[in-house]
Amino acid sequence: GLTSRLQSVFSKLRGKGKVSEDDVNEAMREVRLALLEADVNFKVVKEFIAKVKEKAIGSEVMDSFTPGMVIIDIVNKELTELMGGSQAKLAKSNKPPTVIMMAGLQGAGKTTTSAKLAKLLLKQNHRPLLVAGDIYRPAAIKQLQVLGEQIGVPVFALGDGVNPVEIARQALQHAKDNSNDYLIIDTAGRLHVDEQLMEELRQIHEVTKPDEVLLVVDAMTGQDAVNVAESFHSQLELTGVVLTKLDGDTRGGAALSVKAVTGCPIKFAALGEKIDALEPFHPERMASRILGMGDMLSLIEKAQSNIDTEKAKEMERKMRNAEFTFDDFLEQMDQVKKLGPIDQIMDMIPGMGKVKQLKDVKVDEKQMGRVEAIVHSMTKQEKQNPDMINHNRRKRIALGSGTSVADVNRLIKQFDEMRRMMKQFSDMMGGPKAGKMAK
Ligand code: GDP
Ligand code: MG
Repeated sequence: GLTSRLQSVFSKLRGKGKVSEDDVNEAMREVRLALLEADVNFKVVKEFIAKVKEKAIGSEVMDSFTPGMVIIDIVNKELTELMGGSQAKLAKSNKPPTVIMMAGLQGAGKTTTSAKLAKLLLKQNHRPLLVAGDIYRPAAIKQLQVLGEQIGVPVFALGDGVNPVEIARQALQHAKDNSNDYLIIDTAGRLHVDEQLMEELRQIHEVTKPDEVLLVVDAMTGQDAVNVAESFHSQLELTGVVLTKLDGDTRGGAALSVKAVTGCPIKFAALGEKIDALEPFHPERMASRILGMGDMLSLIEKAQSNIDTEKAKEMERKMRNAEFTFDDFLEQMDQVKKLGPIDQIMDMIPGMGKVKQLKDVKVDEKQMGRVEAIVHSMTKQEKQNPDMINHNRRKRIALGSGTSVADVNRLIKQFDEMRRMMKQFSDMMGGPKAGKMAK
């Protein structure tokens, strides 16, 4: 799928000690293919790649401490932007009821989504009223009534002998009379967009003046969903899109193209048949879901806003030249602590959750405190030249810090290991040696 393909592109990038313009181009070629394969509109893909490249090939990125990570971050931000940037909220009329009209092809999920939306509103202490406006599909009215009963929301129905436009008109009056603050109108769909369907929807629109016209589209249909959205939008002014069946094996194309192609924001995502499976659509969450690295991304974000890049570069240089001292070690610990509780940080690094469960790898705040005490008990010279810390010095440091010689031994051993590991880590992240790109 899209996620695994993107992950393999990025793991290659992350693994590079150096990121050249060729590397970026190669990665973007692969991202482009992955997006096209996921059925994302080709124009959208073209623009997307151009934007990411433009940002990625800036000297600022290439000079950064972790160019690979920065590029992932750029892709994530652009994906988020593609889907609308921030969450598009449901409209609210200041003259209740807020009228929400559902539209879409048959089987897209209109009736189910109507009930799910009513449930969401009910949970927010609103008084929604559902309207059974599909008189064509056999048992469509019954379907809505059953769902309404299940969630405890009233359903306005006049049977299948009354014109849907008239049903909508009466339902609106009913809502006003019964102080329902949201009116959700379920409508009929067809297998294809046709003039008769559109005319009926236009008339319902005319009579109820909806605050929201939500187009329900099946995300599994990929580009078709986008085409449907385009043609509905041209005939009926949509205010938002609901993507359904995102729980299935969707390729991601619809989610990534709908907003860019139609200009209509995705307002909700349906992730299952269950009545609770509807949530407000968050572009940033969807982007990280597509990238398959939600927690990793928030770690990158935290690291970028909290870690002093200049200091990090200086550390890096010292490590490479074997100048890394216990003073630096302390400072490094401070930087890590700024990211938040160490437990949470470990959870955010892929694979680390498991490591943490091992008995001998205990990383907790208390242990960090002990480490600090030991380092503070060292003399200036000892901190600068860890190799001079012989057995007598270790005994003295243990006494001074209220720890044992074994504790001190362990720390010094860890320090040596850390020096080694950090060098590897910085190679993996593409250290400062990546420097300027070969032009
Ligand atoms: P309508 O014809 O547009 O009213 O579509 P329905 O609401 O009747 O839904 C058609 C089918 O799709 C039903 O079997 C629903 O249970 C199913 N469905 C709707 N939304 C979702 C979803 O988000 N995920 C899954 N897996 N199925 C859904
Ligand atoms: Mg229906």
